[in-house]
Amino acid sequence: MSDASRVVVITGGSKGIGRAVALRFAVEKPRIIIVHFDPDESAVRETLRSLSGLGVEAEGHKVDVSSHAEVEAFFKEVLSRLGRVDVLVNNAGIVKDTFFMRMSEEEWDTVLRVNLKSVFNCTQSVIRSMIKQRSGRVVNISSVVGQIGNPGQANYAASKAGIMGLSKTVAKEVAGRGITVNVIAPGFIKTDMTANLPEKVKELFLQQIPMGRMGNPEDVAETVYWLCSEGAGYITGQVIHVSGGLYM
Ligand code: NAP
Repeated sequence: MSDASRVVVITGGSKGIGRAVALRFAVEKPRIIIVHFDPDESAVRETLRSLSGLGVEAEGHKVDVSSHAEVEAFFKEVLSRLGRVDVLVNNAGIVKDTFFMRMSEEEWDTVLRVNLKSVFNCTQSVIRSMIKQRSGRVVNISSVVGQIGNPGQANYAASKAGIMGLSKTVAKEVAGRGITVNVIAPGFIKTDMTANLPEKVKELFLQQIPMGRMGNPEDVAETVYWLCSEGAGYITGQVIHVSGGLYM
């Protein structure tokens, strides 16, 4: 399978880390499918414009990754139209931060559904076709917080730790079929997700990062791209931290 005929699906590819991943894949000119959720489509349109400027055939779809039915229908359509999905990057994610004592059931459930159940929904929807084609790459975006915890993020940390357990299990189940499943745990990355953090919190984070700076979405994208390259074919079930040393 040449790189140019790969079908690459990126959830949450409209902005931030997901957009950087899409642009990184653009070098090989695969078919790129972006999944996003915001009814204001300006972000996804901007990503698609950039991809088209790079000569990439790309499409955007509004799908709620937390909905099993929506995700199943979406991948069914993609697979019947394009015949394959070679790369799945489960990147969509949200935060609903508040201290554990005050966390509502809705804040817990929503974050777990969007961040963790989505990985179940999307991966299960493509894994059968990857098994049939005896190849595939799944990269799941977790977080350093899934391993070290963070005050105010019990829901988020649980969802990101869950991604690690899910990924290692699926990695073991499909390793014999030429499919790799890996996790990236970014640290503190400059995107909309971190833009509104109070300066005090940002400073506290920065003090804990040996490299002394926030990461860029491109730092994460590079690792995603590499994990999907031929050279990374013998790597599966791993959690790779892209965090400037925040976790070591
Ligand atoms: P971001 O800029 O806020 O982007 C989040 C993406 O997820 C958007 O494309 C958004 O699409 C999509 N999304 C949200 N809910 C969705 C849903 N229900 N269905 C489909 N798509 C949905 O965030 P980011 O910082 O790039 O984060 C990307 C991933 O990296 C997340 O999983 C996040 O937890 C993880 N991460 C980020 C950091 C960081 O410091 N930024 C650190 C560690 C891990 P719409 O805008 O269209 O809704």
